[in-house]
Amino acid sequence: MKLPIYLDSHATTQLDPRVLEEMLPYLTQHFGNAASRSHSFGWRAEAAVTEARERIAEAIGARAKEIVFTSGATESDDLAVLGAARATREKGEHVITSAIEHPAVLDSCAALESEGFQVTYLPPDRSGKTSAAAIEAALTERTILVSIMAANNEIGTLNPIGEIGQLCKARGVLFHTDAVQAFGKIPLDVNALGVDLMSITAHKLYGPKGAGCLYVRAGNPRVRLVPIFHGGGHERGLRSGTLNVPGIVGLGAATRLALSVMVTEQPRVRALRDHLFAGLSSKLADVTLNGHPADRLAANLNVCFRGVASDALMMQIRDIAVSSGSACTSAAIEPSHVLRAIGLDAERAHSSIRFGLGRFTTREEIDFTIDALVKAVEKLRAERPLARLEIAAE
Ligand code: PLP
Repeated sequence: MKLPIYLDSHATTQLDPRVLEEMLPYLTQHFGNAASRSHSFGWRAEAAVTEARERIAEAIGARAKEIVFTSGATESDDLAVLGAARATREKGEHVITSAIEHPAVLDSCAALESEGFQVTYLPPDRSGKTSAAAIEAALTERTILVSIMAANNEIGTLNPIGEIGQLCKARGVLFHTDAVQAFGKIPLDVNALGVDLMSITAHKLYGPKGAGCLYVRAGNPRVRLVPIFHGGGHERGLRSGTLNVPGIVGLGAATRLALSVMVTEQPRVRALRDHLFAGLSSKLADVTLNGHPADRLAANLNVCFRGVASDALMMQIRDIAVSSGSACTSAAIEPSHVLRAIGLDAERAHSSIRFGLGRFTTREEIDFTIDALVKAVEKLRAERPLARLEIAAE
C-alpha cells in the first residue's frame, strides 16, 4: 500500500490513465482548433468534439445538440442560473434554490438578487434533502427557475430530482440540477427526470480539470439562455471561446468509462464506505453520521467525532487526505454552510470530517484509515478530557 491515501474524491479525482490515453493525441498531433473549417486539423478536432458530445448526450438520454461545453461546473452553474433567469425575465423574477447548494449556484443567485430578482433559499431537512412538497409550497405565479442539486458535495445526500422535475414540468417552471457529484455514479436521464438544465464536470469523474458541460433542453420546452461569454459564437452562441478539445475528449472518455463500470463499482465502493463507518463507530464512542443514512452517494461518508476539532484531527492523520466540515473563506474559518443548514451547531460542524472514496480506493487503505483515525481520536480526546465531560453532561 502506498502513502498518502486519497479519500477526498468529492473535491477532485485522479485522471484515469485510460482517459489520459484518449486525450494525449489531442494535445500533440491533433492539436487543431475545432472551429477551423478550412483544413484537416480542424476537421479532426471537430470530429473528436462531436464524438464526445454524442457520448455525453447518450449517457443522460439527451440529443447531442443539447450539450454545451464549458470550462467546468462553476461556469455551467453560472450559465444555467444567470442565463435562464435573464432570458425568462418577462415571465417573472422569482427563483427557488436550496440553502446547501454549491457556491457556484448560491453566488449566481446572489448576483441575480442584485439585478432585482427574488430568490427563495429553502432549508433542507435534517438529512439534507429538499422535497418536491417544499418546492411546491414556495412556488408563486412569478417563479421562473428552480435549481436543486442532484447530490450534495459534502454529505452526499440525494435529492428527489424526478419528483421535483415533474412538479416543475406541471407548473411550467424551468428546472436546473447541479449533477456534478451524481453524474456517473447514479443513472440520470433528463427526460425521465424532467430536467431542463444539468451541470456536469469532468474532474469529479476521473477526467481532467477545466472541462465540463451544461445540458440545455432544446424541445418541450426549448430553453433560452442569455450567454455570459461574448465572442466568436461557439456552441450555438451560448458559450463563445475556442473549445478545449483534449479536455472535451477527456470528458467523453471519462463518461463512457464511468457508465461502463457503474454497476460493479458503486456496490464495491459502498461496501468499503460501510466498512469504514462500521470500523469507526464500533471502536469509538460519539461518532455520528451527517446526512441521509441510505439516500446518499455510495462513496460519501461525513462523520462527526464529538469533542475533536477536525483541523487538529487532520494534523494527526497527515498520510490520509480527507476534508473537514469547515471552509476557509477569505479571512476566517467558517463552519460548513451545509452542516449548519442540516442542524449541526458550530462545534459539531467543526468536528466533522468528509471522506470521499473512489475508483482507486482499496480495502487495505480503508483498514489503515480506521486504525489511524481511532488512534488519533483517542489521543486528542485524552488530551482534552474537559471536552469529553462537557459532552457527557449534555
Ligand atoms: N457543483 C458542485 C456540487 C461541486 O461539487 C463542484 C466542485 O467543487 C462544482 C459545482 C464546481 O465544479 P468545477 O470545479 O468544475 O468548477
